[in-house]
Amino acid sequence: MYYIGAHVSAAGGVENAPLNAAKIGANAFALFTKNQRRWDAKPLTSKSIKVFKANCERLGFSADQILPHDSYLINLGHPEAEPLEKSRAAFLDEMQRCEQLGLRLLNFHPGSHLRKVDETTCLATIAESINLALAKTENVVAVIENTAGQGSNLGFRFEQLAAIIDQVEDKFRVGVCLDTCHTFAAGYDLRTPEACEQTFAEFERIVGFEYLRGMHLNDSKGTLESRIDRHHSLGQGEIGWAPFEYIMRDSRFEGIPLVLETIEPEIWEDEIQQLRALAAAQS
Ligand SMILES: [Zn+2]
Ligand SMILES: [Zn+2]
Repeated sequence: MYYIGAHVSAAGGVENAPLNAAKIGANAFALFTKNQRRWDAKPLTSKSIKVFKANCERLGFSADQILPHDSYLINLGHPEAEPLEKSRAAFLDEMQRCEQLGLRLLNFHPGSHLRKVDETTCLATIAESINLALAKTENVVAVIENTAGQGSNLGFRFEQLAAIIDQVEDKFRVGVCLDTCHTFAAGYDLRTPEACEQTFAEFERIVGFEYLRGMHLNDSKGTLESRIDRHHSLGQGEIGWAPFEYIMRDSRFEGIPLVLETIEPEIWEDEIQQLRALAAAQS
């Protein structure tokens, strides 16, 4: 079964996210459990938690179909002690919020070296940040999103994802989310079935599909290897439909949240329907 949805709004409370997802015909969704551009966050109220769980249950969203995303401010690879501490504390809070909501996955961008330390050191810092958060929580899987490699963001090469995973102690609680826009902008071609075959074979060889816990389905405004993180609606950017057709006929992408972060929320419902039609055409 394919779980297809979008990163929906949680304005007015996390309990609204499953309602917004159901409205667009999604059977998966992503959300922020707090304001993604602020450090501070009020704790979730017991009412909000209760209603969120009830809404998810009523609308048929299990924890496998929900991929929360952490705050953009967090840098788990920060080269300086104080900001690193702040990021680690905020990340732990994000993990605990997921636990409170009964969620099992937390999607995050690995981190940036800010040109102050080398890549290897930064990747080790990121892995240590993950280990610290996993030690203080019980169930949530840390899902590393690959990046476009903009600025000094790491995690744009599959080897970098593998290096982080390699240093995480609990392999059952670490995973990867591949964003198609980021993958392409990082230099992995997806524009033809053959290119998809090659890119995903490389992912399998270097990281492994057993770690794939979610996908972000986005076209890209930036060109191949532009290292620019700019999403576009499906089929309207530099990538085209090839990867989405590929994903919808390959069972390795079933059973994990496939989340649109495309730029026109007004057409998410259509995009979901188009993806479902591609999957149906195969079976
Ligand atoms: Zn992201
Ligand atoms: Zn993404």
